[in-house]
Amino acid sequence: MTAKTYLFPCLQDNYGVLLHDPASGATAAIDAPEAAAVEAALAKTGWKLTDILVTHHHNDHTAGIPDLKRKHHCRVVAPRAEAARIADVDETVGEGDTVKVGGLSGRVLETPGHTAGHISYCFDADRLAFVGDTLFSIGCGRLLEGTPEMMWTSLLKLRALPDDTQFFCGHEYTASNIAYARTVEPNNVALQAREKEVATLRAVGKPTVPATIGAEKASNPFLRADLSEVAKGLGMAGQSPAAVFAKIRAGKDSFRG
Ligand code: ZN
Ligand code: FE
Repeated sequence: MTAKTYLFPCLQDNYGVLLHDPASGATAAIDAPEAAAVEAALAKTGWKLTDILVTHHHNDHTAGIPDLKRKHHCRVVAPRAEAARIADVDETVGEGDTVKVGGLSGRVLETPGHTAGHISYCFDADRLAFVGDTLFSIGCGRLLEGTPEMMWTSLLKLRALPDDTQFFCGHEYTASNIAYARTVEPNNVALQAREKEVATLRAVGKPTVPATIGAEKASNPFLRADLSEVAKGLGMAGQSPAAVFAKIRAGKDSFRG
């Protein structure tokens, strides 16, 4: 583990995160929700911005790019399928491409569903994944441009990462995700433990991010749509994982906790 990360809240409920390679001094911002918050994070860490790695085209992930680019002349890397909708892109990437941040090496995973061209960046050697609005702790992104099948396939890619992988997502949604997840799996002990942990963290204003893939596999219903007990609990025994996933996602869309 050589990489360092610095997470910071911004906008309403977004997270920005810096990824730093101490050996080279390179620093990437994963998405750029707002320039001022990224600047504050750079000032606090003393790191110098060299790269912006964009996960998807939404404004709450890209609005800070032009100001940061002008000031730092950093490289902007973005998903190939969405580059036309993102400002100041220098390099476009897709599935299987490698993105270097100094000496750190990130692998691009295409994880469509929230948007059609959404990508995630996986720094395997450092067990770090930056997943934008695809996977949230105890939740997943809304299907704004994709189908349930598409998102389920994307989540399977992230679920296949090693259990000790820490993933950084774009929003602090965990508490409200848990309120819904409890209705899907009321008897899930890991979920109940996560609820206590999250209540403690949020009571003192601490983030619930990053979380680990291993912990999510035990507690996030959106990663558990292929388990027979989950299907059964929803009255969908024997149905396809994608169909069960679609039902869980639709339930969240109409949930008013
Ligand atoms: Zn988004
Ligand atoms: Fe977002």
